[in-house]
Amino acid sequence: MNDWRPQTWAVRAQAEESTHHEHSVPIFLTSSFVFEDSEEMRAAFAGEIDRNIYARFTNPNVEELSEKIRRLEGAEAGHSMATGMAAVFATFGALLSSGDHILACRSLFGSTHTILTKILPRFGITHTYVDAADPDSWPDEIRENTRMIFVETPTNPAVDLVDLKWLGGLAAEKGVILVVDNCFATPILQRPLGLGAHLSLHSATKYLDGQGRVMGGVVVGAKDLIQEIYDFARATGPALSPFNAWVLSKSVETLEVRMEKHSENALVVAQWLEGRPGVASVRYPFLPSHPQYKIAKRQMSSGGGILSFVVEGGLEQGKRFMDSVKLCSLTANLGDTRTIVSHPGSTTHAKLTEEERLAVGITPGLIRISVGLEDLRDVIADVEQALEASEAT
Ligand SMILES: *Cc1c(COP(=O)(O)O)cnc(C)c1O
Repeated sequence: MNDWRPQTWAVRAQAEESTHHEHSVPIFLTSSFVFEDSEEMRAAFAGEIDRNIYARFTNPNVEELSEKIRRLEGAEAGHSMATGMAAVFATFGALLSSGDHILACRSLFGSTHTILTKILPRFGITHTYVDAADPDSWPDEIRENTRMIFVETPTNPAVDLVDLKWLGGLAAEKGVILVVDNCFATPILQRPLGLGAHLSLHSATKYLDGQGRVMGGVVVGAKDLIQEIYDFARATGPALSPFNAWVLSKSVETLEVRMEKHSENALVVAQWLEGRPGVASVRYPFLPSHPQYKIAKRQMSSGGGILSFVVEGGLEQGKRFMDSVKLCSLTANLGDTRTIVSHPGSTTHAKLTEEERLAVGITPGLIRISVGLEDLRDVIADVEQALEASEAT
């Protein structure tokens, strides 16, 4: 059984069978677990036996999900939590102390940026931002007290890449923990741990669920680091609900086929958009015009489901495009079976200054598409009519 390949584990890893001999795993909706006697309970609390105690600590559904992602990423250990941000914050909270410094790629998920700039400084943890497009500047920014490098690749929403093998080498040379938010690529398309990262984390809310139903977060990696993150989470309480864990674990069974189809569809949409009138530029990792195409080919097995493009008229035309789509959803999510469009300049990143937006690659006309699994002809027809409508006025 131990020689199963990761994808088989993603389908077959399952919490221990109950006395009912179910084929599909039940949901263990219980806040605590009972003991035979005081000795068993003592041994469980002492960590001498591997036993569920209380659902804030462990739950069979939650462990099943962690096991699947651990297998897919080729990690020693993993832990799942209530949201992607819970996984991000537990990683910082468990591994950093007052006086530590983080080197982070400037282009980050909004709430991660908020943690770095507003929350961690109150605990004496500082950061420096560097640009994905300028890796040569990174080594000089690593200080004596730099304990962690934190990056996303591909980045959101600019779809820039970070060369993970190079960065893994730098982290090893400097003795710094490398954490990769692997949300966009998923373990199907990119395995940061094999390239030198110590931890890989996910918003399970996105592709791992993939159908826009539940929230969750997973972090996998080196056993000693995961133990510290687990201890932090166990005490501070961002436990994943058993129901959400059950939904996510079922979803992971189809993650591979979904990611292949998302990638195939996104590439077709990216190729269709490139060079069209009204479209100034298109960014997709597996388009040869992507400035980091070679890195994409090296570290990703396909390009993923997300692309961005720039409409020529800027902010107004971007908003008109959003107002003109009929099939595509306007919603604050991505990685869904349903195609989602967003216009960061007028929504998620509207609070930043123009200069800050440009620094993370958000031009006024930038549109992000998370390409879904509808019939692609309908998606392209919708994008086409919205582009025409946005140009007309
Ligand atoms: C959504 C997202 C997160 C946060 O995850 P939640 O599940 O919403 O807490 C973190 N990183 C990236 C790249 C994301 O897209």
